[in-house]
Amino acid sequence: MANKNYYDTLGVSKDASSDDIKKAFRKKAHEYHPDKKTGDEAKFKEINEAYQVLGNEQKRKQYDQFGTTFNQGQGSGAGGYSSWQDMGGFSQGNMDFDDLGDIFSGMGDIFGFGGARGRSRSQARGSDLQMTIAVELEDVVFGAEKNIEIKKNIACDHCEGSGAEPGSDVKTCETCQGKGEVIRMQRTILGNMQARSVCPDCQGEGKTYSQTCKVCHGEGRVQEKVKLTIKIPAGIDTGQSIRLSGKGEAGPKGAPAGDLFIKIKVNEHTKFIREGDDIRSTKEVKFSQLVLGDKVEVETIDGKVILKIPEGTQSGTIFKLKAKGVNHLQSRGRGDHLVKVIAKTPKKLTKKQKETLKDLNI
Ligand SMILES: [Zn+2]
Ligand SMILES: [Zn+2]
Repeated sequence: MANKNYYDTLGVSKDASSDDIKKAFRKKAHEYHPDKKTGDEAKFKEINEAYQVLGNEQKRKQYDQFGTTFNQGQGSGAGGYSSWQDMGGFSQGNMDFDDLGDIFSGMGDIFGFGGARGRSRSQARGSDLQMTIAVELEDVVFGAEKNIEIKKNIACDHCEGSGAEPGSDVKTCETCQGKGEVIRMQRTILGNMQARSVCPDCQGEGKTYSQTCKVCHGEGRVQEKVKLTIKIPAGIDTGQSIRLSGKGEAGPKGAPAGDLFIKIKVNEHTKFIREGDDIRSTKEVKFSQLVLGDKVEVETIDGKVILKIPEGTQSGTIFKLKAKGVNHLQSRGRGDHLVKVIAKTPKKLTKKQKETLKDLNI
């Protein structure tokens, strides 16, 4: 299925606790482990994939908000999103389910949530942005490129994001003594604890300037309309998102930018219905064509193909046109085109036609 529901995969409800999710995962992973009699490698991978997301609080939150997300890195080739095959090694080797941490530590960060860019928690990073784009079925069957325009904060050119007017004097921030962060004592139930936060005066930079930038007034960023080209991966479906790392809002004073999430909405097609990776359509033919058999033209997303209707075909029969469906997301192959053949009942018949039909007694 293209539109994965990780909660369904693990058989838990959307508000399941993290304990419930872990339990459900263990049970299913045991059941479908490829080494077992009840094993099923494809299912096993699906379960792992679901747990990789739902078992992690941050990823689960992202998933709830954005659906399944696919990375589109900057400049990294081949669409920039990693494939499930990268996970590797699941079918072989023994797994110790009591040591979940080790199993998953080798998997890499499929979704790229956090971590990868060494983002520091205390850094005033730019916000994530989200936008929805509508695409056609053809776009997601074969994959496509779309140009978008988005208004967002980008690093200020004039001061190169520093917020300082070029040529102004640089001083060490007095508030944080150049450390970029301030430590405050916080009272908690466990006693007094130190809490670190970004310095409010220098926004973590550790420096202040005698003159702030004329263009951005010291913000280090300005709002502008930006054009971007988005690669729509073949097989993506409504509700799924593409993540563009670092394409969200620029952070203040040169801090790292947030991410841009592009949520996909596939427009309804006039002729075809998508069902997972299959495409469905209906073809009306004459009753006589079903009775006697015939060759008819059927429209598919690839163009017209000839379908051979055998003699004595019942109305409502579904024929499968192999690999004329949607490309599988992040794997080879395509779904099928399923065409339902139905007999058209004629409404206006001549007297002679009616009599002949009666005589035929069929
Ligand atoms: Zn400071
Ligand atoms: Zn500036």
